[in-house]
Amino acid sequence: MPTVFSHALLPLAAAAALGRKRVPVPLAVAGAALAVLPDLDVIGFRFGLGYASAWGHRGVSHSLAFALVASALVALVWARARSPRAFLFLFASMASHVLLDMLTDGGQGVMLLWPVDGTRWFLPWQPIRVSPIGLRFFTERGLETVRSELLLIWLPSLVVAGTMIAARRKRA
Ligand SMILES: [Zn+2]
Repeated sequence: MPTVFSHALLPLAAAAALGRKRVPVPLAVAGAALAVLPDLDVIGFRFGLGYASAWGHRGVSHSLAFALVASALVALVWARARSPRAFLFLFASMASHVLLDMLTDGGQGVMLLWPVDGTRWFLPWQPIRVSPIGLRFFTERGLETVRSELLLIWLPSLVVAGTMIAARRKRA
């Protein structure tokens, strides 16, 4: 996984890029929470659910079906998430987690198409250094991860969001 901060960043940057009228702050925060949620599955390691199990890390919780169900559950309990745009934002936020994981160079792939197919997928291009599990940043590996995420996730996200914010201000 990339670090929890980078997973949360994508929905927040997208919300900033799209503007508060399209993505109000509470929706942006909900998107960030959903983008972080799939990695709670690391708890499975404690109970012996490794990569071999669909219920372990990067399994069921990293599928598009799970993102769809989780977004639907949020919409069920939260009226603000019921518009097609809000629902799409929440789904895309959670799906962005899976996409980022598919770009990492370690661990196992994600069960993108579960329950249809149990294959664990990576993208052919995996430039992001996988994060050590347990947030151990201040090791050589941890610092490499932070460097790779700053360059490949934070920099492009902030440039895109900044450009779109500037364009919106110019139009206003
Ligand atoms: Zn993950």
